[in-house]
Amino acid sequence: MRLSSFFTFILVAIHLVSYSQLKPEDTEQWLPEPKIITFLGSNLVPSDAIILFDGKSLSNFENDKGGIPLWDLKDGIITIAKDRGDIKTKQKFGSFQLHIEWRTPSIIDGDGQYRGNSGVFIQERYEVQVLDCFNNKTYVNGQAGAIYKQTPPLVNASKKPGEWQIYDIVFNAPKFFLDSTLAAPAFITVIHNGVLIQNHTEIKGLTLWQGKPYYKAHGKAPLVLQGHGNLVSYRNIWVRELE
Ligand code: MG
Repeated sequence: MRLSSFFTFILVAIHLVSYSQLKPEDTEQWLPEPKIITFLGSNLVPSDAIILFDGKSLSNFENDKGGIPLWDLKDGIITIAKDRGDIKTKQKFGSFQLHIEWRTPSIIDGDGQYRGNSGVFIQERYEVQVLDCFNNKTYVNGQAGAIYKQTPPLVNASKKPGEWQIYDIVFNAPKFFLDSTLAAPAFITVIHNGVLIQNHTEIKGLTLWQGKPYYKAHGKAPLVLQGHGNLVSYRNIWVRELE
């Protein structure tokens, strides 16, 4: 055996011996302890969440021009008022976990993109489509749970019109260099009624109705709910900031 091979053999042997000598507790981590979460109210909202809408008031929202939101609040739910535009949160958000419940009208009115259309616009720019997609054909990257005009949902987990549906969303905000060029795109995971429909999907930029997506640098921004003219309702909305 050459001398260098001999030393390599010795080093590997020492490494194997020291590795095998690790005790189980040597690989245990005790600190810092994860924060303890409790669950509040009948909606079981996590104690570290920011409640955006709990059925009582729209005080955390404004209309798209900065005034009082004009959607209808009744019986603990908000419903899009026709021709009253979008509503948006007063607070701006970066990365977050979002829980939001929505319902399209039980009385079917319209087809395709005109049946129960609304949308969850993250950071005012990136739309997770809300649409009645129970027996309603449309382009697949525009159906419920699509990253609009970019990525269709993995499956169609839509409930019947008139039934409450849930989106649980994890959003990692895009990052930009100081010169405003893109450092890292946004990524999104969406669970629709308990079913994974977007699995760490890369967002390619603005979710435009017309034209290819592109990024334009921005910071934290509001969450917007789209007023598309259909009587879509929302309830139980909360976020947990991830930064
Ligand atoms: Mg929409």
